Amino acid sequence: MPMVPRRVARGTISERSATLASPGEVWRNAATIGRMAHRVTLIPGDGIGPELAEATCRVLDATGVDFEWESVEAGEAAIEQYGTPLPDHVLESVKRNKVALKGPITTPVGSGFRSVNVSLRQALDLYANLRPARSMKGLETRYENVDLIIVRENTEDLYAGIEHMVGRDAAESIKIITRYASERIARFAFDYAVANGRRKVTAVHKANIMKLSDGLFLESCRTVAADYDGRIEFEDRIVDNMCMQLVQKPELYDVLVLPNLYGDIVSDLAAGLVGGLGVAPGANIGTEAAVFEPVHGSAPKYAGLDKANPTAMILSGALMLRHLGYPDEATRLEMAVRDVIAEATTITYDLGGTAGTAAFADAIIDRLTAAPAVR
Ligand code: NAD
Repeated sequence: MPMVPRRVARGTISERSATLASPGEVWRNAATIGRMAHRVTLIPGDGIGPELAEATCRVLDATGVDFEWESVEAGEAAIEQYGTPLPDHVLESVKRNKVALKGPITTPVGSGFRSVNVSLRQALDLYANLRPARSMKGLETRYENVDLIIVRENTEDLYAGIEHMVGRDAAESIKIITRYASERIARFAFDYAVANGRRKVTAVHKANIMKLSDGLFLESCRTVAADYDGRIEFEDRIVDNMCMQLVQKPELYDVLVLPNLYGDIVSDLAAGLVGGLGVAPGANIGTEAAVFEPVHGSAPKYAGLDKANPTAMILSGALMLRHLGYPDEATRLEMAVRDVIAEATTITYDLGGTAGTAAFADAIIDRLTAAPAVR
């Protein structure tokens, strides 16, 4: 593995990305040719996705880790070409490479195709959605010391997609909660807490009202918590109270474990505490594969304007580096991002600056290539 970071020729990747039309086509950073590289499925997505993906790949290549990016299309672009938003070859690519970096994908509201994001998570059994929310110097927020880890169950709950009309004027969505999935996500949260030196896991639920479904989730968390007694503290909160507590005293909380829907909502709330969706990374982790993607969506109104903040996707890339066994490179990347944001001269509109997506990525690459590599 190279110890010394290399400068990546700017513009190279965008030129190459533009030519990536056929499924599974692979390109490599020119500097890495001839070395063992990590082959990663790249799903640029739509809306602001492609420009963020391009910026993120350039930054990741600049960490010195060797990547082969296997670029595939999902979402609206795939419908035009393959007649489906999630073609089989996309799933096969992720299964083969076991790791993917993904941009956001638009989901039509109310009608149209089912969410590609949900389908991908279910098809690959990416059962754990990990969303860290950490304060960064230089970002104007209400709190300075937020350090939360949101662990969201990713496969069931109301996202199981079982909905039907009852006559013309009523609709039902079925909420699925199983002991298997609840214990599995609770164990993931506790194992994460142990492995990362965290002190407490809080289970979030609405078991006072949904006594069976949320009751089962809570009971499963309690069962798993018993195995970690004396090592990791455990408590539970009702989701509405949890939201109030988080906006009043987020410093009291550490790792939160939630069913799918509450996890989705509370992780956006947590993102808001630390500077917004533009800086919130995420990972979808299963036993056979992992997909790294920002929390935010495709923000269509900013698509193609070189305006969106790539931080969330770049920090998702840092989570991917850790997953691949490069903790030092991940830390160096996170520090470079933090430095550029703290300096505040080259930041995007959402952080109070005027820099574009590409310029922001360039500033991070400059930091990475200026600092000595650690390892
Ligand atoms: P969104 O996250 O796309 O955007 C909401 C607002 O947040 C934007 O208008 C913008 O002001 C801000 N924002 C988001 N990302 C930003 C960034 N990187 N830099 C700067 N500002 C940013 O949410 P939405 O408008 O509700 O959803 C748009 C589409 O994205 C929908 O079709 C939705 O289904 C989809 N979506 C996809 C994913 C995913 O692919 N995992 C996640 C959430 C939403």
